[in-house]
Order: sequence, then structure tokens, then C-alpha cells
Amino acid sequence: MSAQDAPDGQSPHVYSREYAVPLDSQDSLKHTRDEFLIPSKAQLKVKSLPEAVRDASSDTSASIYLCGNSLGLQPRLVSTRMQQYFTTWATQGVFGHFKPLAESPLPTWLDADTKASECIAPIVGALPSEVAVMETLTANLHLLLSAFYKPDINGRHKIIIESQAFPSDHFAAESQILHHDLSPETSLVTIEPPSQPQPPLSTSHIVSIIKQHGPETAILLLPGIQFYTGQFLDIPTITNAAHDAGIFVIWDLAHAVGNVPLQLHDWNVDAAVWCSYKYLNSGPGAAGGLFVHENNGQVTTRGSGKKVFTNRLSGWWGSDKSSRFAMDNKFVPIPGAAGFQLSNPSILDITSLTASLEVFALAGGIGPLREKSLRLTSHLEKLLVKMPAYVNEQFEIITPREPDARGAQLSLKLKPGLLDKVMEGLEERGVVVDERRPDVIRVAPAPLYNTFTDCWDFVEAFGEALKDAVKQ
Ligand SMILES: *Cc1c(COP(=O)(O)O)cnc(C)c1O
Repeated sequence: MSAQDAPDGQSPHVYSREYAVPLDSQDSLKHTRDEFLIPSKAQLKVKSLPEAVRDASSDTSASIYLCGNSLGLQPRLVSTRMQQYFTTWATQGVFGHFKPLAESPLPTWLDADTKASECIAPIVGALPSEVAVMETLTANLHLLLSAFYKPDINGRHKIIIESQAFPSDHFAAESQILHHDLSPETSLVTIEPPSQPQPPLSTSHIVSIIKQHGPETAILLLPGIQFYTGQFLDIPTITNAAHDAGIFVIWDLAHAVGNVPLQLHDWNVDAAVWCSYKYLNSGPGAAGGLFVHENNGQVTTRGSGKKVFTNRLSGWWGSDKSSRFAMDNKFVPIPGAAGFQLSNPSILDITSLTASLEVFALAGGIGPLREKSLRLTSHLEKLLVKMPAYVNEQFEIITPREPDARGAQLSLKLKPGLLDKVMEGLEERGVVVDERRPDVIRVAPAPLYNTFTDCWDFVEAFGEALKDAVKQ
């Protein structure tokens, strides 16, 4: 697997590091890596903050960071925009809410939510009015369920999720059922894989469960990309099948947003939620977002002048901007996703997120990024498959092998008992990936900042770490 493998005088072997180097230097998106702060191997080893500060500018070798599926790296623009925000706050105080400053790239705080919606809309394929940057993923899921899950035990009362759902999604669905004084035993349906060990969930299997429970089901809640296996579900087909059965569909896009192209509006998705600290690189716990299809967010007026809209848990930021400060306790629902907002948003979060989305714009949007992502992940897969047999038999790739059925991430399931040692070995070598117990490591080359050589360096370190782990 090294340059020496290539016979003299021939171009480098596809499995060599030398093959990856020109893929990077000729990559039309290579400039976006420079927009990020990539921790160096030395920085990852520091033990104190003063040491980290000292090390922050030292130019040492970059780590192999393939963990953007868990926490995206920091774009350099974030601290620039944050500083501009801090200056605005420091010099304007409360006037920052509504006083625009010339030559500032930042909107007034009163308009920050609208600006953020405009920035995120193309990433998820929505109208700006269909999205809101607000709260966090699980909170948004509860807000959507509070509006759209109105169970009737004699009619539609079930929520369908997958049996391997992310715990927070499972808890949200279960607690909503309990909140309506129903029992998860009768009202929660979990889609079990048809056979073991867990294969990817086929669309036909999901559709068969939808058909089986259709007349009694109120909500279908599924992940766009499954966090454990990395499977990219067929959102339009599954959404259609659910609609045919009269079911309202909510997608959890935690691992899909910023990773794969989405067309939520055109796919007729009813509603969706996401977080922004994975592939959207906005920082740990920063505000997430929600999507409500325009069909579900309308506000109409009845003859008497009464506003008609989907009832929801409300707060003042979901009420019309022009009368918001009248303080007359009359809720005037904003049409669309913005009407689901509760509180005035954290400008700190929005500033960070929109700075990060500027980098997506520099890359030309999600289209070119997906194109690179497909090539990066396929290269990683090719290298993994080609590892020497004695290494190769220690793990299997559980992510679907068809590029259309996955995003950036490959999940590697190790033979039992190897995980801790392999993770230790990777860390020693300056490689950052994440683990999901008992046996899986998730490896996600993010096209905004990862390279083909990162993939090669990972596979080499992984091989060494596995060899050491098996020896022990
Ligand atoms: C990361 C992730 C979450 C995170 O939820 P928060 O409310 O942002 O903490 C939820 N669901 C899935 C599937 C995730 O991958």
C-alpha cells in the first residue's frame, strides 16, 4: 500500500499515498480546507488551556480529523463574525436590535432569524418561509409533535419510528405518547430489521410497516441518514408511501443536513428537524432548525377575521413582528416555520451558523460538495476493501455500498473486543473518528475540509492500530 508497490517508472498505484496527493492538489474545492481550523496532532495532546493557547498558532502537522459527523470543525470566519458581533453589542447595546451599521455583514438582531432562514433554505431545499433556525433538535421535535401529533385512540394514535432510532428521538416519541395519556405499548411502533445481523432497512420493508399500521398511525418519524449505519433513506419514496396512508411525516436530518442534497419542499416532506453542529460546523450545541412545509404552516382568516392555523405551543417570537412589541397578549401567528419560534434567538448561535454557511456558499453549495463527497468516500471504501486479508477479516463495512444510499460516513464494525484498543491506537496516531459501542467506529470524510490523503492516512493508521489490537 505504499509508493514502493508501484513498479518503477509507472504512475502511482491507486492504493498508494502518491495517488491521493494529486487528487487533492487538483481538487476544485481544495481552497475550502483553508477556511477551517484543523487541530494539529500536537494540539490534540495538550493538557491545559494556556498550553492550547500557546500551541494555537504553531504550525505542526495536522491531525486526521474524520469526525465531522459528530462535531464539525471551526470555520475561521466564525471568530471574525463573532468579533464583529461582540463589537456591535459592546458599542451599541440595545440599539443592536434594530440599528443597522453600514459596512457590517451582520443583520440587526431583530432580523437575524430571517437572514438565517434565507441562508439555510438552499441547504435543505426549502423556501425561506418554510425553515426556522431555532432551539435544538430534540426541542424542535417536541414542538413539531405538539403541533402535529393529536392522537385519537379510536383512530390515528400511533407513532412509527425505527427500532435503532437515536435515543433522543425514541425518548421524544415515547414521551409524547405518555404526555397524551397513551401507552407506548399500543401507540409506539418500532421498525425492526427483517433479519439479523442488522442489514440496511430496505424501502420496501419500511413501506410494508407503513401499510400494516397505516389506518392507526398519526406520525412517521425517521432519520434522513441513520446515525449508526450511515444509511441514507429514500426520503421521497417513503414520504409518498406515508402520505398514501394518510400519515404525517417528520424527518430527523441530524446526519443529512449539509451532508447530502435535500429537496424537502419538492419531496413534500411535512416537517423536519436538524442540528447544526455536525456537518454544518456551527459549534457544539448551537441552534438547530426546523422545516414546516408551506402546506402545513399556513395562516388563513375566517369570515369573522379569526386567524386559522395549526395550533402549537407558542411564544412571542412566533407572533407577528409588527405587533410583537405591542404587549397586548394577542397572538398573531406568523405563517410558515417562523411561527413556531418561541423566544428571541441566540445571536451568538446565529452568528456562528451563518458564518459557517458562508463557507458552504464559497464551495458553491451542496451540489459540488456532494460530488466531492461521493469521490472521497468511495476512495476511502476502496482503500479499506483492499487492506491485507489478516486486517480485513477484523472488520466489516456496515454502511450500504451503493453511493446513493449513504452520505459521507462509513461505519466499520470491528470483531468483538477490539474497539478500545483500536481507538487508542488511532488517537496515538493523531486520528480522530468516533466510536459507537459495542463495536463500531464511524469515519466521515467531510468534503469541506477533508482530503484524499486524509483517507489514505486514516487507513494506514487503522491497519496499524488493528494489527496492534489483535496482537494483544
Ligand atoms: C446528533 C443527533 C441528535 C442530537 O439531538 P440534540 O437535541 O441536538 O442534542 C438527535 N438525533 C439524531 C439522529 C442525532 O444524530
